[in-house]
Order: sequence, then structure tokens, then C-alpha cells
Amino acid sequence: MPRDIPVGNGSFLIAFDADYTIRDLYYPRVGKENQTLGYPSRFGVWTQEGFSWVNARDWRIALGYLNETLVTDVRASHERLGLQLVCNDAVDFEKNIYVRKVLVRNLRKYERGVRLFFHQDLSVMENEIGDTVFYDAKQNCLVHYKGPRYFLINCSAGDVWGVREYATGIKRLRGAEGTWRDAEDGILGGNPIAQGSVDSTIGIPLEIPPHGEAVVYYWIAAGRNYGEVDALNDILVHDKPQKIIDRTASYWRHWVNKEEFNFGNLPADVVGLFKRSLLVLMTQIDSGGAIIAANDSDIKQFAKDTYSYMWPRDGAMVSYALMKAGYTTTCGNFFNFCANTITPYNFCASVMVEDGFLLHKYNPDGSFGSSWHPWVKGDEIHVPIQEDETALILWAIWRYYDLYRRMDEIRPLYHSFVEKAADFLVSYRDEETGLPLPSYDLWEERRGILSFTAATVYGGLIAAANLSDIFYHTEKASLYRETAAKIKEAIDQYLYSEKHQRFLRMIYPKEGGPLIIKDENYEQDATIDASLYGMFAFGVYDPFDIKIQNTMKAIESALWVRTRIGGIARYENDGYQRIGNDGAIPGNPWIVCTMWLAQYYVSIAKSVEDLERVVNYLRWTVSRALPSGVLAEQINPYTGEPLSVSPLTWSHATVVQTVMDYLEKLQELHTCERCGRSIFHYDRAGRQLLKKHLPAHADAISDQEPIKYLDEAHFKKDGENITVNIDQGRCVGCGICVANANGVIDVVDDKAKIIAGKAADWDIKPGFEKCCPLEAITVKTA
Ligand code: SF4
Repeated sequence: MPRDIPVGNGSFLIAFDADYTIRDLYYPRVGKENQTLGYPSRFGVWTQEGFSWVNARDWRIALGYLNETLVTDVRASHERLGLQLVCNDAVDFEKNIYVRKVLVRNLRKYERGVRLFFHQDLSVMENEIGDTVFYDAKQNCLVHYKGPRYFLINCSAGDVWGVREYATGIKRLRGAEGTWRDAEDGILGGNPIAQGSVDSTIGIPLEIPPHGEAVVYYWIAAGRNYGEVDALNDILVHDKPQKIIDRTASYWRHWVNKEEFNFGNLPADVVGLFKRSLLVLMTQIDSGGAIIAANDSDIKQFAKDTYSYMWPRDGAMVSYALMKAGYTTTCGNFFNFCANTITPYNFCASVMVEDGFLLHKYNPDGSFGSSWHPWVKGDEIHVPIQEDETALILWAIWRYYDLYRRMDEIRPLYHSFVEKAADFLVSYRDEETGLPLPSYDLWEERRGILSFTAATVYGGLIAAANLSDIFYHTEKASLYRETAAKIKEAIDQYLYSEKHQRFLRMIYPKEGGPLIIKDENYEQDATIDASLYGMFAFGVYDPFDIKIQNTMKAIESALWVRTRIGGIARYENDGYQRIGNDGAIPGNPWIVCTMWLAQYYVSIAKSVEDLERVVNYLRWTVSRALPSGVLAEQINPYTGEPLSVSPLTWSHATVVQTVMDYLEKLQELHTCERCGRSIFHYDRAGRQLLKKHLPAHADAISDQEPIKYLDEAHFKKDGENITVNIDQGRCVGCGICVANANGVIDVVDDKAKIIAGKAADWDIKPGFEKCCPLEAITVKTA
């Protein structure tokens, strides 16, 4: 089940399933530890008409967020109980406090007693052994604890503060299901303490007038000791829980709009998904630097392992998207995380001597994550890596420098990471061909010499050469550049197939044969794989190169899913979580693969019209998102439902990257015919300039009447009726018309608008419409 509406702050993450039940609670790191083990912490309601947990089928639930925030907007209604609930959940952007506000509406025309129940199924530090939960009479709350983890649960309803009704007890042991069962008669037992495998439930009684409302706040504070959670609880008592929700909403609204991009002609739903993607990404990234692939414990049912790891590949691509969108702190933290975790290959002394590569995946604390890559096959020693993971970090570091020129941040990375990693890439090659030696592929399914991996190694070495130039390590720069050139030659010779007129997915040593790729010693795997886009994405070939064009055409033709759902599959006959056996479907569509195709079309666009197909792909992604805007890894090719983990960080990052690629290209293509300079600027204010406050903030402090704006104005001039229309679809908000309109036009939300109060006096000049380079303005005289 997807995690539709995660809320978090980088060290405390709460993830709900589609039934609005808390399923994952991560603390103190995003991805570690999951204090619920994926078990549900229920939320229920008792009335005289009966009891129901909100995850029951008879609730109608809509899960979303308040616009441009990480505060949820959840609506739940129950016909038989005659109730509607409006809920807002937030994790404070700074403190480790989770707050839920519940507005309860009585839909009956008589006064009623209603009781809300909140259940906590915590298995502290990821196991059920040795937990304690007790009623704390000092703060009138419950506390779950074990070792250095404390969770304080409290509530308020109107003027009543603190927990008055509660149950603590044993769960999943000797037939005991848990205290949540105790709630179903509307009355809790009041047992003050339980130890071992425990859970707890609190009840909040309400009296609600006919067609009236009541508001309840519930919160969980997380800390390393009792004093810490006690202090967090004090903040709530003094500042009031609503303030936590309001300040969190304000923080994220400002955060997601800080760059004030001009989104040009991108549709509002695409802009909405871009902003939602940025926000969702921040829920999945640990404040210690680890960019986690996904935090959705339901995937355990598939392989008894999760995606709550930092995969260097995913992290590199996510950091690249974030840096393009102007969110640099996360990137710097991520690179530092990687520099600290690069692993000297010395823990099996007889195996190899190389060092300087990243392993399969990492826990959020930097330790090596679980892995299935063997260290040996028969007598042959295997290096258990996916080499693209090391190469892509190099590539991302260079892109970061190239965009922001932050010498102080890059300098400590050179010797600690760049040089070691690049030296490894140089050494880990086939002597005969110059290609990288076999490693596991980006999909983690096969081992060989992948086109994708080779492309990233090329890109990583060019990046390392550029960085070496900066620090004047000229010999290293030459070595890395020459090696990259040899790899490109080898890619041409071994990974491009004249027969297929496109790139192969990979070549690999024959079973039982030597590792060396020579003569007939290897097999070819010509499967069409969406990851072949890497050949242009990491700079090996120009996107206009015929080899790239043919390869991308083959991807689009073979991997587009030919159902009403559409999208690009990973590769031909992909079996991972496959739905059905329809031979016409290459595999489930993936968001990342579809966005790669969109990125290709951005790269080859020569006109604004060429970009239209990119908008179509972006809108496809909008249509495949959950109503909250969250994106899964894959999509059911028949129903469009999310598959595998959700949200997947990489899916959201590819949307962010594609939008930024699009805006850059739009800027490049919208140039003045006379002077050649751009007339559209997505980065309106420039990254070095002080930005103005958000319009929302300006509105809040102004008592003036809001200005009315029009797309079309009718007025008289010299006795003639004049109509001026601005086509909002064509306008990209470049602002040229503003300079020619004597204050009658303004650019609002990236579109030119006529100020209603000024149109009547507009001394419009003949031929005014010609000032618009995109022919978005028409003027009619009658
Ligand atoms: S000139 Fe005015 S109408 Fe034309 S694109 Fe620019 S802002 Fe829009």
C-alpha cells in the first residue's frame, strides 16, 4: 500500500497508508529506526451508533496536503456514524514533534457524545522486546521508551489538556492482540504500565452540539531521554499545537517558493507536481546527508527487506535534481556523507587491493546496508559493486561545482573522494578493451559490462578531470581524460551494435570463460533498456548523434506500454513485480524511465513547439500521481494504480530535473531575433539577488483592496471600442509588454495580466501587440 502523505523534518518521519493509518514512524534518522516495524497505529471513533476504526472500508477518505506545504489535508466521513473528520498532520520543521489536528463535525441534528481513539503500536528500536509504556501523571500523558528512545503521547480538546482515558498492555503475545481491542466498546481499562511487547491507546471524549464541531489535538514527541520529550511537550503546552501546524505550513510554503521561478508556459498541474515533488523529497532525506530511496515498509512483504537505504546512484540523481532547483544544502550534506563512507577494500585481505569505490547501499547512519552481491563465484573473486554508483557521485560533484562554484565545499572532497574514486575507475578496467570490468547493473539484476555503467564511468572520469584541473592536479586530469577517451572508443567498438543500429544493453563474459572481453569470449545482450539514455545524459555522445537518435527511437517504440495507461517500461520482458503476462506489454511503466525519454526530447528540442511533447510526458506523470501528488516507483499498466514503493525519491527527482531542463531550454529557445538575448528568464531574480517576500505574506500585511486582473479588457479610446486579449497559454511572462503598457499590464504568477482598474484609461499605442515576441497579445478595434 502506498504511503500517500508522508510528513517529516529530516529526523522524524511519519508515513500513512492509503487508509490514513500510521504505518511507519522513523526516528532518529529518516529510514532508521522504523519504530512501528510497519504495524498499524490505528485511529478510531466511538458514538452511540457504534465504533469504527478509520481504516475500515465504510469510511470515505480523501488524502492530500494543504497547498505547497508538508501539512496534510485529510477528509474522512462515515455515513452510519454521521460524522465528518477534517485532519491536519504535521511534523514540526525544527523540533521532533508530530501533531494531528482533528476537527470533528456532527452531521446529526442532535447533541452527541463522541470519543476519538488513538492507538500507538510502537516497537522501539525496531524490536518488540523490552519495551515499556507508562502513564505519566506529571504531564498527564503516556510515554513509550526503551534505551535511548522516548516517545511521549499527549492530547488536548478545548480547555482540557492531557490524557484522561488510556490503556497500556501486551500485544501480539499469548493471544493478546493489543489495547486497540479494548477501545472498541468505547471504554479503556486504565492500566498504568506495561512492559515487553506493548502498545497503548488513548481516548478523548467530546460532547458535540447538533450540526456542531469540536477540535482535538494529538501529538507525539520523540527524543533520546525523558527530559527531551518532557521539554518538547512543554513547547506544545505553551505555544499551543495549532501554532506548530501553522509555522510548519508557513516554513514549507516559503521553502518551496524560495526560487520564485517563472514557469513560463508549463501548465499549473505540472508546476504543482514539481513543487509537491520537492516537498516529498524533503520527507525522504535524512538531515545527516543520506538520501533515502523510499520509506514504505509494505515492500517487506515482497522481499523481506525495504528501500530505506541510501543507494549512491539514486542519491546522485536526486542531488542533481535538487541542485538544479536551487536546493544546495542537501547536496552538500549528501556529498559529505559519501566522502565519509567510501570504503577501503580491506576487509577481506586476500581478495583485492583496489580501494575507492562505493558499495551497494548504505544505512542512513553510514554503515553498509544489506546486500545480495556475492564476493565470489566459483574460484573467481567478484568485486561486489554497481560501479555506476561510484561514478555518478563524481559526476554529481562536478555538476554541483559547475552550477554554484562553491570552492570551499568542493575542496575537502577532492582528496577524500574525487581522487580515490577516479583512480578506482581508472584501475577497474579490462586491459584488453579499456572498458570497465563487470559489475552489477543499475536495476540490480545482472552482472556484466553495461552501457549505462560505462556511460557513467565516462561521465565520472570527465568530471574528475575537470575537478583535477581546478586543483591543478594536471597529471591526474590528463590520466582521467585519456582514460575516458579510451572508454568512449571501447563503447563505440563493443557496446554499439552495427547490426541493431543502436547500443546493446551489455556484454558479459561467457559462462566459465575468463573475465577478459576479447574476441569471442563474451556474449551480447541486445535487450532494449531505457537506461541506454545514459549514453547522452552523461555526455558520451551528443543527443543529436545518429546512434543516440536510433537508440532513443528504439526505446520509445519497444518500451511504451500500449494500454490506456501508457508510460515507458524499464526494458523488454521486465518481470519485476510484473502485472499479467500480456506479451504486448514490455513491463510495468516506470516514472523514471518515462522522464528520461522526456529529458531526451528536451535535449533535442530546436523550437518551443518541439517542447510540447515534453509537456505531454510531464502531464502523463501528473496523471499517474496519487491525489496527494505522491509518485510510486512503477504503475499498474492496466489500472494506473501505484506499484512497489511509494513515494520513490528517484521518481520525484526525475520530475524536478525534467521541469528544470525544460525551463532552461525554454529560456534558450526564447531569444530576441535582433539581439539574440533571452527574452524569457525562468530564474527571474537571479540566484544572488535578495528575493521579495511571497505574495501571500505581502497580502497578509496589507489592508489594501486586492487588485483585479483580467486576461481580456474592453475599453474605449478616441470613440472606438478596443479589445485587448492576452493568450495565457502562449504567454511565458517575459515582461516585455509591461514595459510598453504604461502601467496597465503586470506579470502575475508568470503571466501577463491587464489591471482592471487601469484599462479604461489606457492610452494604448497602435501596434502595441507587436511588442510580444510570442504573439500572445491581440488587439481588436471596432
Ligand atoms: S510580452 Fe507580455 S504577453 Fe508576451 S510573453 Fe511576454 S509577458 Fe507574455
